[in-house]
Parts: sequence; C-alpha cells; structure tokens
Amino acid sequence: MALKLTWDKDVCIHSGNCVKTLPQVFKVENGKFVIEPSAASDDKVRAVVAACPSHALKIQD
Ligand code: SF4
Repeated sequence: MALKLTWDKDVCIHSGNCVKTLPQVFKVENGKFVIEPSAASDDKVRAVVAACPSHALKIQD
C-alpha cells in the first residue's frame, strides 16, 4: 500500500525540492499542491520527505 503523506502549507518554504526530485508524486495542479505517493517507490518518497528543508512533509504511520 502506498505511503500516506501530510503536507503543512504553513510550514512549507516552497523550495521546490520535492517537485523537482519526484515530479510524478509532488505536483501543482490548478494552483493546488497535490501528492500522489503511489506514483513512485516508498523508498524514493521517503527520501524526498527526509530531504524537505522545512519538514513540511510527514509520513503518517
Ligand atoms: S521540499 Fe518541502 S519545503 Fe520544499 S516545496 Fe516540497 S514540501 Fe515545501
């Protein structure tokens, strides 16, 4: 099953790291930030979450 992610818009500093690294998972559609965790392997998604500079992304256990 795909990971469940949360994103805190008030914490995000819009570095764009997540969108640039895994554009199939993290994207902006119609001005809204959309996350599709199933579009990449869990390892890749976890790596992007770990690299988020503001810690706005979190994995729900
Ligand atoms: S990597 Fe983190 S801080 Fe950067 S845009 Fe994505 S959620 Fe926001």
